[in-house]
Amino acid sequence: MPDILVYALHYEGAINKNSLGAVSEGARLADQLGGKAHAILVGEGVPDDLAASLGAYGASRVLVAEGPEGLAQPVVDAMAQAIAAGGYSYALFGGGLLGFEIGAGLAARLSAGVAMEVTGVRVEGGKLIAERPILGDSAISEIEFRSEVGIVIGRLNAFETKQTGAGAAPVEHLSFELSEHAKRAKMVSRGEQRGADVDIEGADILVAGGRGLGKAEAFELCENLAKAFGNNAAVAATRAVVDAGWYPYAAQIGQTGKTVAPKLYLAAGISGAIQHKVGMQASENIVAINKDANAPIFEFSDLGIVGDLHKIMPKLIDAVKAKRES
Ligand SMILES: Cc1cc2nc3c(=O)[nH]c(=O)nc-3n(C[C@H](O)[C@H](O)[C@H](O)COP(=O)(O)OP(=O)(O)OC[C@H]3O[C@@H](n4cnc5c(N)ncnc54)[C@H](O)[C@@H]3O)c2cc1C
Repeated sequence: MPDILVYALHYEGAINKNSLGAVSEGARLADQLGGKAHAILVGEGVPDDLAASLGAYGASRVLVAEGPEGLAQPVVDAMAQAIAAGGYSYALFGGGLLGFEIGAGLAARLSAGVAMEVTGVRVEGGKLIAERPILGDSAISEIEFRSEVGIVIGRLNAFETKQTGAGAAPVEHLSFELSEHAKRAKMVSRGEQRGADVDIEGADILVAGGRGLGKAEAFELCENLAKAFGNNAAVAATRAVVDAGWYPYAAQIGQTGKTVAPKLYLAAGISGAIQHKVGMQASENIVAINKDANAPIFEFSDLGIVGDLHKIMPKLIDAVKAKRES
């Protein structure tokens, strides 16, 4: 039977949303393959009820491996041993940095084929076909696995979360051997990134930055403008800059980020790709600053400013401050 093992990341007693999407997708695919979707959690003292809750998302069994949490190598050890014992045909990850690291490590360990940044998976001829955008997302490549085990790593939040399962799933405790190198790294601290506490969905004004900012430090312009607007303003970002590590994922707007509808959405250095547009098009007023007069964002902006944001934003910050102080 072509069964699927799905990795589920958990933190502070909750399963990560991206992992819930992966478990749901695993269940959907396993159903079409005529196999089963099992989930695996690795951690210290993982509560049984937390593991069992993945049953609601379609996992028919949940494996719990006692080991260090949040590090890739111990999970590679646990999953490699679970796959050898359980005969799984596929391993599925929701994405994110840890998912990429574990998936890549597992591919090396098992000599398995791996598809990364996957945005869609379908079943064809009893096998999984993974779809991956290429060439700057302008084309889609299709990947089929020739290896005994196929590893599919989704783009962050690419898989929809669906509660299609029967309820609590049976939990099985898995004992596994930690490899020597997996014992050499230790988690020192774990926490949220800068900006993760900002209520983007509730803000009246969003100052969003894109790749046109040029570098992470230029987000200061967005932060200063949001500050000038006052309390109910926050900073948002495109996926391009989040992927580049310029701003936290918590601020991402769009298809694989948050959907917002503020009174004012100010987009600085953002091209207006469809995947960004779907997350902000309901904003009451959209103002865009872009040096390219043909940028798609101008097609759905209420006001467009054509020019270099590095010249315009400082003037805008001064103007907003002056207006508020007057
Ligand atoms: C499945 C999938 C899901 C996705 N989900 C999302 C999502 O949730 N959110 C999202 O945002 N994207 C998402 N994307 C990516 C999306 O397709 C775009 O790649 C991304 O939105 C582009 O980000 P950007 O506008 O910052 O960068 P770019 O497209 O590179 O645009 C940069 C813009 O800045 C302008 N510029 C450059 N320098 C300056 C300057 N000095 N002054 C003024 N303007 C300047 C340029 O003219 C350009 O228009 C997704 C893609 C896929 C395939």
